[in-house]
Amino acid sequence: FHLSGIIPDSDSLILSTPEIFAARYNIEVRVRNEVLSIDRVAKTIAVTNLDTGENYQEGYDFLVLSPGAVPLKPSIPGADAPHVFTVRDVVDIDRLKKHVDLPHVTDVVVVGGGYIGLEVTENLVLAGKNVTMVEMRDRVMMRLDSDIVQLLHRELHDRGVQLVLNDALTKVGPDSVTVASGASYPAQAVVMAIGVRPETTLAVDAGLQIGTTGGIVVDGHYRTSDSSIYAVGDAIEVFNQLTHKPSRLAMAGPAQRQARAAADHIFGMSQRQTGVIGSAVVRVFEQTAASTGLTEDECRAENMSFDKVYVIGEDMVSLMPESAAMHLKLLFEVPTGRILGAQAVGPGNVDKRMDVIATLIMLGGTLEDMRDLELCYSPMYSTAKDVVNNAALVALNILNRVYSQVTIGDVRRLIVEDDATIVDVREEQEFAAGHIKGALN
Ligand SMILES: Cc1cc2nc3c(=O)[nH]c(=O)nc-3n(C[C@H](O)[C@H](O)[C@H](O)COP(=O)(O)OP(=O)(O)OC[C@H]3O[C@@H](n4cnc5c(N)ncnc54)[C@H](O)[C@@H]3O)c2cc1C
Repeated sequence: FHLSGIIPDSDSLILSTPEIFAARYNIEVRVRNEVLSIDRVAKTIAVTNLDTGENYQEGYDFLVLSPGAVPLKPSIPGADAPHVFTVRDVVDIDRLKKHVDLPHVTDVVVVGGGYIGLEVTENLVLAGKNVTMVEMRDRVMMRLDSDIVQLLHRELHDRGVQLVLNDALTKVGPDSVTVASGASYPAQAVVMAIGVRPETTLAVDAGLQIGTTGGIVVDGHYRTSDSSIYAVGDAIEVFNQLTHKPSRLAMAGPAQRQARAAADHIFGMSQRQTGVIGSAVVRVFEQTAASTGLTEDECRAENMSFDKVYVIGEDMVSLMPESAAMHLKLLFEVPTGRILGAQAVGPGNVDKRMDVIATLIMLGGTLEDMRDLELCYSPMYSTAKDVVNNAALVALNILNRVYSQVTIGDVRRLIVEDDATIVDVREEQEFAAGHIKGALN
């Protein structure tokens, strides 16, 4: 948001300071001090003061590692050029902003369509830049399935973003980039947002156990393989509540919960790790996209027995001027009806709906629980039968075989291969607003 000028002053991005920590919590914070190594036998860490060059040691009874994650950079020609940036902290954003504000920088290539790439793209467009987004997969936001993500693709196109999918960056030149297909795009600045890897240098050097996902292994209380050393945040391997497998999740909410749980345990209070489900939200211009739990791709990869429904509902009573459609996809287990995941896109309060479903998932909720949820209602906030309740009703119809459904993915095959006739039973004006080519109303 600083890139677009919505947040004009980068200093306001710094939410706390060593002085605040000292005054409010009696905690001494040393910024610009880097921990170089851990001596697990002596229970000490070696530190260097990056400003003075002084090296010193500190002792510990318990040590908490929260070193975060490092942005990935591809090993391609030009990746280390001065006009190539990654975004991790305020210093990075400041550097990027200073560069893109230079008058000759009119074209920026953003590599990677995850939430950081999307946020950077939006803010650069708002700052008046021509932005090309290059993504090697078939879509942006892997937390959305390929059907529902098309709404974001459309939004990006409508906002003038040149979206290059299924293509990978191969070279960065002084004022353009080249991709695997051979095409090139102008770029006086390149932002790499291709993901992060856990920062495990200290842990590896100290001989702590690293998991199959590359994160630091922790137990139910966030203790590493050394019971005097805890680890939390982007650097650790987490337990996925739905797949029952280790995974990684670089998100702020889980990091906060883990930090609290580790601190509680150090102070003798028991708080067990409950695992993660993966909830995320991103704004892309006028659309909000959010997801929770598993995607359809993940359900398939896990060989789960599942089904899905799509609901397009109003986010508030349609007479309200700001009312807008919300596209929601719900995944549930067959035959139990346990909710596995959901995704939604729309200009309205998408995050609220995903938060409600996230709560249900974390509590092991089923479609019946979701149908019966008593949610707040007033015309400017929702509808009396909220899209969340409605999605559960539709899903129960499918689960209980009241209806069978043809999903969007099947329609093309039915029309092309089976010469099917589509009968569109919606109202005339709904049909007029948009329909499948060749459908009868
Ligand atoms: C641009 C951006 C936007 C984001 N937006 C969202 C969002 O909207 N929602 C969301 O849920 N998450 C978001 N995240 C992710 C979120 O910021 C992280 O999940 C969270 O900060 C993880 O906390 P952490 O403590 O593990 O790591 P960090 O917050 O990265 O903190 C790690 C710190 O440790 C320091 N460090 C590392 N090694 C050493 C060492 N050897 N000695 C001393 N210090 C060291 C690093 O310099 C860093 O300051 C965003 C991340 C980025 C980069």
